[in-house]
Amino acid sequence: MAPSEPSSHAKPAIKRNVKHVVLGDLLFQTWYQSIYPEELVSKDTDRLYVCRWCFRYSCDVAAYTKHTRLCPHRTSPPGTKVYDYGGYAVWELDGEDNKLYGQNLSLFAKLFLDHKSVFFDVASFLYYLLTFTDPNDPDNYYILGYFSKEKLSWDANNLACILVFPPYQHKQLGKLLMGVSYKLSGWEQDKGLIGGPEKPLSEMGRKSYSRFWEERIARYFLVQSANAEKTDEQTQKPTKGSRTRTTQEIMTVQDIGLATGMLTEDVITALKGLGAVEPATPSKRRKTTQDIAAESETVTIRKSSVLEWAKTRRVALRDPVCDEGFLGKWAPRSHSESSVADSEEESEEDSG
Ligand SMILES: [Zn+2]
Repeated sequence: MAPSEPSSHAKPAIKRNVKHVVLGDLLFQTWYQSIYPEELVSKDTDRLYVCRWCFRYSCDVAAYTKHTRLCPHRTSPPGTKVYDYGGYAVWELDGEDNKLYGQNLSLFAKLFLDHKSVFFDVASFLYYLLTFTDPNDPDNYYILGYFSKEKLSWDANNLACILVFPPYQHKQLGKLLMGVSYKLSGWEQDKGLIGGPEKPLSEMGRKSYSRFWEERIARYFLVQSANAEKTDEQTQKPTKGSRTRTTQEIMTVQDIGLATGMLTEDVITALKGLGAVEPATPSKRRKTTQDIAAESETVTIRKSSVLEWAKTRRVALRDPVCDEGFLGKWAPRSHSESSVADSEEESEEDSG
């Protein structure tokens, strides 16, 4: 069976090519090189057999079959379950306590990730595995993807690597993982940590995150304005013409970041992507230099444009992550972040 510790001196420059992997009963193509030890996985491997519970690997089908009968993680992944909702669960495991597991998971993930990562320093990372369990088959679970996170990040990164395994992509699961990463970083400290994924992002990561941020900000504005309307209805007597009044609220990009737990640069990316941003209406009076300077930093975000954006993209206003799903130290009573969720609409977009 496969190796314990890959050599930390493996040279990524040496070309290896695993063409396909067998993960449980799924056979699929790999996308990129990984750095499996050459003595165990030759450079022209057509099929690499990978345990779907612990990611141990072998080129030998007999050894693989034998392992899957004995795998210690057949019934449950290592670590602690931190989220469980609708059959989807997230398990947190410490790389320090699960070195081999972390390395094997990272080696497997690298087959689908187009950037170099440090695989051997698993001790300084936490891993969050996404699993699915069919309620009709409760003894059987599937690992669908994961994200990793540095235990101590100087750049406030709330995520290092993220991957939904290819057979499970385009089911909104990336958004679920990203959402969990923001929830956890938001709850980590009393005031909430403003964080984001480790940069630079891969091409695929950039697309996925842009979309995720756009939806997050759209959701924030729509829920805010729905709440404001509710408050208005409760506190104001209806008078003729009151519905036509336009409310304007001045917020800085930093304010939006604080409210959504997002970094300023990511808020800006999302606002641009939403296409709902217009320069502020210029004043008719003669402009002073001060006005011009202020205007260049002021934009108007039209609620109607955000609504339109959300509608045409069939964006779910309901957060993909459900607060009630968090367990243990993350259970809802232990934190105060309110859910930004109201709509029954389901999204059918791909996460990529
Ligand atoms: Zn196994």
